[in-house]
Amino acid sequence: MYKIFYKTELYVGKGALEQLKVYKDEHILVVADPFLKESGQLDKMLAYLDSSNDVAVFTEIVPDPPIDTVVAGIQAANGRRISIVLAIGGGSAIDAAKAMYYFAHQQGLFPDAVLVTIPTTSGTGSEVTEFSVITDAEQGTKYPLVSREILPDVAILDSNLVLSLPANITADTGMDVLTHAIEAYVSTQATDFSDALAEKAIKLVFDYLPKAYKNGQDSEAREKMHIASTLAGMAFNTASLGINHGLAHAAGAKFHIPHGRLNSILMPHVIQYNAGMNKGMQVTEKKTAHRYQEIAKLIGCSAPNPRMGVRQLIDAIKSLQKKLDLPVSLRAYGVLPEDYQLYKQEIAEATIRDKCTDTNPRVPNVSEVVSILENAF
Ligand code: NAD
Repeated sequence: MYKIFYKTELYVGKGALEQLKVYKDEHILVVADPFLKESGQLDKMLAYLDSSNDVAVFTEIVPDPPIDTVVAGIQAANGRRISIVLAIGGGSAIDAAKAMYYFAHQQGLFPDAVLVTIPTTSGTGSEVTEFSVITDAEQGTKYPLVSREILPDVAILDSNLVLSLPANITADTGMDVLTHAIEAYVSTQATDFSDALAEKAIKLVFDYLPKAYKNGQDSEAREKMHIASTLAGMAFNTASLGINHGLAHAAGAKFHIPHGRLNSILMPHVIQYNAGMNKGMQVTEKKTAHRYQEIAKLIGCSAPNPRMGVRQLIDAIKSLQKKLDLPVSLRAYGVLPEDYQLYKQEIAEATIRDKCTDTNPRVPNVSEVVSILENAF
């Protein structure tokens, strides 16, 4: 027996921002990406809010938000009895807002607030997940906060908001979508429900990410990638993720590589490890290889057997990376050999502790994680 739970109301498509008009006489804490303020987009979005609302705006968001940002955001409410936390931006802004919402609740603040999200990247799926990834700068770690409490009540998906994403961020965030979907598909908690969501997301990424990268104004490709991101979020919110994300959290905190780009670098090596391609496949690895074979078939590879399926899937991912001009190793990204040597053990230990690693199809030990990292370096 298992329980499938989806809470978030989705408003999808052009004009979805109109949904903001329903809020009246509310106390709203807006947590938004600074880019939106600088570009003037935020004012246009907030113009949808009725003038009866009392609005506080916090835009001091940095990528991979640290705890200090969360504390500052709660303070920005300035004693208001917040009834809506409205998060607008990429995963960093949405995760920061979710953590503010969570810690404010812990302190008895914003007791009746609802959480409304408007993603402006097509990547994290944070608008439909109970995850928030926060950086502990002092410890040099990123850790996922996982709680049903931070599952957003409402998500507004308007792909017009991602038209301004530069090509490199389109590529990074799009590869994050692919990692979510593939990890959810091979997770130990995968179900037919998460499979259906992940399969559609994978298909959409291979079909539309190169188009969105090549031409950011391709509104069909933008819309499909925006939907793929949410579908993948819905998939991993029930199935969870795996070692790719465990490693990306641990290594991301040390090397400061954009999250999706780091996931992309790690992905071929994680797949190879999970499928036991470097050694003889044991029973679990055979099962996982079979799952990767299914993905390979889904994207049009012949995949005549699990081993070939895994190889073809890895090749397809590498070919996608090439189309998106993404680096294929940590070294190519610019990680220095001395930094890699300094941190590899610490990263591997943090990866084992990361919650995402718990549902990886193969149970890793520290030395295996080091060797995945070695291959990715
Ligand atoms: P991001 O939010 O850090 O944004 C990346 C950059 O894009 C920023 O400089 C931002 O200003 C800019 N940007 C955002 N929207 C834009 C737009 N429409 N036009 C132009 N520029 C824009 O990137 P992200 O990949 O969306 O989020 C990454 C964070 O999310 C990481 O901290 C990661 O760990 C976390 N994450 C969370 C989950 C989850 O379920 N909560 C899942 C995966 C990743």
